[in-house]
Amino acid sequence: MCIRRLFQFSHLQWAQRATFLKHIQHKHQGTHRWTHSGGSTYRAVIFDMGGVLIPSPGRVAAEWELQNHIPSGTILKAFIEAGENGPWMRFIRGEITTEDFLKEFGRLCSEISKTSVPVDSFFSLLTSDRVAKQFPVMTEAITQIRAKGLQTAVLSNNFCLPSGKSFFPLDRKQFDVVVESCLEGICKPDPRIYKLCLEQLGLQPSESIFLDDLGPNLKTAASLGIHTIKVNDPETAVKELESLLGFTLRVGIPNTRPVRKTMEIAKDALEKYLKDLLGIQTTGPLELLQFDHGQSNPTYYIRLANHQLVLRKKPPGTLLPSAHAVEREFRIMKALANTGVPVPNVLDLCEDTRVIGTPFYLMEYCPGLTYKDPSLPGIEPSRRQAIYTAMNRVLCKIHSVDFKAAGLEDYGKQGDYIPRQVQTWIKQYRASETSIIPAMERLIEWLPLHLPSQQRTTVVHGDFRLDNLLFHPEKTEVLAVLDWELSTLGDPLADVAYSCLAHYLPSSFPMLRGFGDCDLTHLGIPTAEEYFRMYCLHMGIPPIENWNFYMAFSFFRMAAILQGVYKRSLTGQASSATAEQSGNLTEFMSNLAWDFAVKEGFQVFKKMPAPKLLKRSYHTWATPQSLLSPTGTRSYSSIPEGFPAHASKGALVISPEGLSPPARELYHRLRRFMEQRVYPVEQELQRHQASGDRWSPSPLIEDLKIFNCSAPDTGNMELLVRYGTEEQKARWLLPLLEGKARSCFAMTEPQVASSDATNIESSIREEDGFYVINGHKWWITGILDPRCQLCVFMGKTDPHAPRHRQQSVLLVPMDTPGIKIIRPLTVYGLEDAPGGHGEVRFEHVRVPKENMVLGPGRGFEIAQGRLGPGRIHHCMRLIGSSERALALLKARVRSRVAFGKPLVEQGTVLADIAQSRVEIEQARLLVLRAAHLMDMAGNKAAALDIAMIKMVAPTMACRVVDRAIQAFGAAGLSSDYPLAQFFASARALRFADGPDEVHRATVAKMELKHRA
Ligand SMILES: Cc1cc2nc3c(=O)[nH]c(=O)nc-3n(C[C@H](O)[C@H](O)[C@H](O)COP(=O)(O)OP(=O)(O)OC[C@H]3O[C@@H](n4cnc5c(N)ncnc54)[C@H](O)[C@@H]3O)c2cc1C
Repeated sequence: MCIRRLFQFSHLQWAQRATFLKHIQHKHQGTHRWTHSGGSTYRAVIFDMGGVLIPSPGRVAAEWELQNHIPSGTILKAFIEAGENGPWMRFIRGEITTEDFLKEFGRLCSEISKTSVPVDSFFSLLTSDRVAKQFPVMTEAITQIRAKGLQTAVLSNNFCLPSGKSFFPLDRKQFDVVVESCLEGICKPDPRIYKLCLEQLGLQPSESIFLDDLGPNLKTAASLGIHTIKVNDPETAVKELESLLGFTLRVGIPNTRPVRKTMEIAKDALEKYLKDLLGIQTTGPLELLQFDHGQSNPTYYIRLANHQLVLRKKPPGTLLPSAHAVEREFRIMKALANTGVPVPNVLDLCEDTRVIGTPFYLMEYCPGLTYKDPSLPGIEPSRRQAIYTAMNRVLCKIHSVDFKAAGLEDYGKQGDYIPRQVQTWIKQYRASETSIIPAMERLIEWLPLHLPSQQRTTVVHGDFRLDNLLFHPEKTEVLAVLDWELSTLGDPLADVAYSCLAHYLPSSFPMLRGFGDCDLTHLGIPTAEEYFRMYCLHMGIPPIENWNFYMAFSFFRMAAILQGVYKRSLTGQASSATAEQSGNLTEFMSNLAWDFAVKEGFQVFKKMPAPKLLKRSYHTWATPQSLLSPTGTRSYSSIPEGFPAHASKGALVISPEGLSPPARELYHRLRRFMEQRVYPVEQELQRHQASGDRWSPSPLIEDLKIFNCSAPDTGNMELLVRYGTEEQKARWLLPLLEGKARSCFAMTEPQVASSDATNIESSIREEDGFYVINGHKWWITGILDPRCQLCVFMGKTDPHAPRHRQQSVLLVPMDTPGIKIIRPLTVYGLEDAPGGHGEVRFEHVRVPKENMVLGPGRGFEIAQGRLGPGRIHHCMRLIGSSERALALLKARVRSRVAFGKPLVEQGTVLADIAQSRVEIEQARLLVLRAAHLMDMAGNKAAALDIAMIKMVAPTMACRVVDRAIQAFGAAGLSSDYPLAQFFASARALRFADGPDEVHRATVAKMELKHRA
């Protein structure tokens, strides 16, 4: 409040009053300052309210009089003429009620103007939300002042509202002290109220600066020794305050920069438009900046006179159908204004392309914080948690809007949101496609086949992520939800899944930073599952089963959006400098999407009955039982016993103690099972393998079969989950998962170097609606097993296609005529019965066309995608067999005496033990890291680590087992112990799934490419 104090001083000369009034009415630009000498350091800034933080009543009155045809100056005269005991003065000292004030004041105004004056309408305007709003420049300044550790105060001549509360339309938390005349019973320029304010601040007058728009108020402040700034215009006042304080109060508009060359807009036309729209007379430069945000719809910051606005427009050029709908953004924000969803106040939609070339809309600039990095660096974990909770809550608010009541019934179609979205984004993707991306092709087939049924229809934001939210600078409160371009009516779960994208993206992802590689427990950020549960709890809905579908769809949609941005960058239309990068990112996103589709595919496991553990009789191994004791097997952990459990999700677990409770329980069950059921029957199994029945599965194994993780079944199952059609899955995947069938993978050929898959020569030709196979294969593991029902066959469909597009994969039932097994091959004389490794001819083998996986030419890609999990299983088994070899060695050297002492006392034996332990641990850590990466970032991201372990684990196992064999003497080579078999399989694994050299080449290439 500012005007009323003119009227309270009897000593104030009329001439002075007249000059002052004139100044207010004519908006003089000059500033006055009363300052003390002495130059002490300032510790507080005290603000008047009306005319400094919010518009002055004088200006509001002048506008109101004009609009209501009341003689100009009536209100001001009414304030002044009645003097100290007039209605206004008594009102601001809290001596009369609003009702009495309005009666008396109305009478006075009517006397002055000789006409009836509806003062309650003026009063409503003065106290309305529209008018009584803090100047953004002042909000910014207060934030900066407080950030520097100074105090802030309001010293206001205000009044009480009809509710009895004082009129204070500001956020009190911005101020350390608030002194209100109507509550104190005294008002400015009475020196006592200034002293009261200083007392509450605990400061001397010279330690503070006071801003007011009225001279007499400032004069008293100055006479007390307070530094003063006269405010005519908030912008100029802030500049003056900056120079007094010696630090900047206008740090610029966050996340903006000069307008990009290709995104410039005609400033003159815009300025004229704005002046007409806002009724601004002032001349002064229009400040125009561009926000970093807005790859799709360029977004600008505008400062003109006291207005700070945001303009959002369509990008220039030819646009994709239904994209960049700024009209819809305007409509929804307007409709949501009174629904409790925080949105910026929208002012105007201009569809006239003559103004700046494209349609645009304007909204008020809302100063606040955007968190661009979703891992929220530099913020306390508890605050991070609160920020994500606030984000979750605001999403619940959006999804709780009564869209019919908000006039949004026709804002989108109701029902079938996901099917329509899937089609829309397929279409958008196709319209901007620049090359074939295999994962996108797979998703385009997969998504329509796995659509969920929609439970609810609500307003959906469509792009709900942390950096589209504006937060209060000090509180964890969402001030505004931005970027409604993709909003519509739809399935709210799509929004929830989309808002979890950052959980899976790496922190280095260029356009959409994530925290998939961070430890969320440490950060305090809820996991995606926790975030989703929080949402369900708040909305009162049960959790859903097909969450992975929603995630797959969200990543697919993101991939399609990135492809659109990329395409526009090629034609110079995209509005972001990083747009050009988006091409590569599309592929990355689509692979992530596909990982979720695969996870969704794995739901099939959940539907399977739990396997039964059959009771077995115990058998004794020929060696001492102590060899099989827990200490002899896998009890060695990578960290000491008793080390605190590393239970945080997302962290690399390096010991059983660090596993989650359910996984730890599984681990212990597995150990018990090995010790109680498997080790005791090893010898009997050995005997079966040497017997004439060896080509029939041992009934012992049939009974014990609970793991179902043998090669090549796991790789084949993975292949079917990832790439199989629903029919292929039903026919082959289910029997494999249930352990009812076995399978083999036929790639290697005797006549060509098969470590290079592109050499494969077997032919697959199309004939009478069938595929016909001819070829010679060998080393086909499992093909001799009587349970083997499926051969996953790789051959060439088109020898003239590009090198990596010649191969295809066919699912060949093993009972198809023309499959001729020539012989079982042996590894160091071992046959690995009953699966064996067969040499086999395929002669005119006819397979229905629907047995092709993915399509012709996709074989190389499938072979690549299949191998990650199979390889890590091999490596895990190798760590296991090395542990057992070391355990056997330790037991043997303790009991065996040579040259007068146990072998364990020989230095070379001790060195062997130490060396073996170190090598096992090195390999184990590498394998754990690869497994961790596969879990957290997917098989593709873990490609380097998978190649590394495939290089390391077999050679490590060969060395460790070889040392054990050496310590055992000749017995180590016999079939009385499992060492010879361990060695043979470790040695074979230096070829199987690609020879060492090929993996070394992969590692070296990646090293040169990424760590140059
Ligand atoms: C026990 C066992 C089980 C198997 N199971 C299967 C199966 O189920 N299905 C299947 O299809 N295959 C299987 N294989 C075959 C295996 O995948 C191949 O042996 C392997 O891919 C190598 O192919 P190749 O034998 O034709 O060797 P080649 O390609 O002839 O290579 C011979 C040698 O050349 C060298 N070499 C090759 N490439 C490079 C390079 N880039 N740089 C330097 N040197 C190089 C390596 O020393 C390599 O060992 C199995 C093999 C074994 C031993």
